[in-house]
Amino acid sequence: MNNFLLSVIIPVFNEEKNITPLLDRLLPILKDYQYEVLFVSDGSTDNTAHEVKKHAEKNTQIKFLNFYRNFGHQMALTCGYRFAKGDCVITIDADLQDPPEVIHEMVNKWKTGAKVVYAKRKTRDVDSFFKKQTAAYFYRLINFLSETPIPDEVGDFRLLDKEIVAFLNNLPEQSRFLRGLVAWGGYPAEYVYFKREKRHTGETHYTFSRMLNFAMDGIISFSTKPLRLASYMGFFSAAVGFLGIIYAIIGKIVHPVGWVTGWTALFVGIMFVGGVQLLTIGIIGEYISRIYIEVQKRPQYLIKEMTNL
Ligand code: UDP
Ligand code: MG
Repeated sequence: MNNFLLSVIIPVFNEEKNITPLLDRLLPILKDYQYEVLFVSDGSTDNTAHEVKKHAEKNTQIKFLNFYRNFGHQMALTCGYRFAKGDCVITIDADLQDPPEVIHEMVNKWKTGAKVVYAKRKTRDVDSFFKKQTAAYFYRLINFLSETPIPDEVGDFRLLDKEIVAFLNNLPEQSRFLRGLVAWGGYPAEYVYFKREKRHTGETHYTFSRMLNFAMDGIISFSTKPLRLASYMGFFSAAVGFLGIIYAIIGKIVHPVGWVTGWTALFVGIMFVGGVQLLTIGIIGEYISRIYIEVQKRPQYLIKEMTNL
């Protein structure tokens, strides 16, 4: 018997049909360990709570937390990390896209000293062309903008040593782009590879607008370069304007006639400057809204009920 506790955190949002199939595959793997399975229901409105509690009644190593409403995937994971007692903690999706079978390999890497073990997608055949492309561009962009390199093809399926869990739990910030925060710590990381499977039942909860918000969060929390970009654009358009003034003055002296028309140039100039200004205000606004959320210090989630905790 292994002499450590393994925690498995599973965020669930309307996954009623996936709970039993997931446990059927997960529990045989966990029987080699001392374990706890922590389901965090992110405000599910279907039978998810009932399904989980049914299993929790029979097996007290299955624990359950339920939020009042949907606070988001990252908040469900954040809450899971706060309650997990394990020496190592694995986060896994409920929809069986992450195969539980690789847990053994992850734990073995942890035993040999890795503080972070990422499960990396070998193939993504099941994801749409669009999702693959947007994900690839997102990682390229964030790695260009941020000083913290975030590994690509890595989602929230990972193992963390309890030291890193403590680090995450002690972070005071509201914004929780967890894969970025883990990478920011620079802990020695290892990889295991897996084939991403199809969702067992149901649809993805990450719609396009949610993906966009998630990407924005990642960029704003890990880079201030967009602000610098705003300054550069300001310099650039001011420089163009300045050159325009010099051109106009010289033109007036050298060519006093034929210097009246040109509303196209005027129109283009106004649109350009107006666009740069709005974009710049928008960028500043994104950062200010983050500051606003941080100073409000509202709870990150609200727990409605707990079972076996
Ligand atoms: N999830 C959650 N809260 C949300 C959205 C998703 O807890 O607001 C959970 C969901 O139940 C699943 C995991 O997060 O276990 C990943 O979500 P999903 O499969 O929809 O995302 P995808 O795999 O398509 O990126
Ligand atoms: Mg999924």
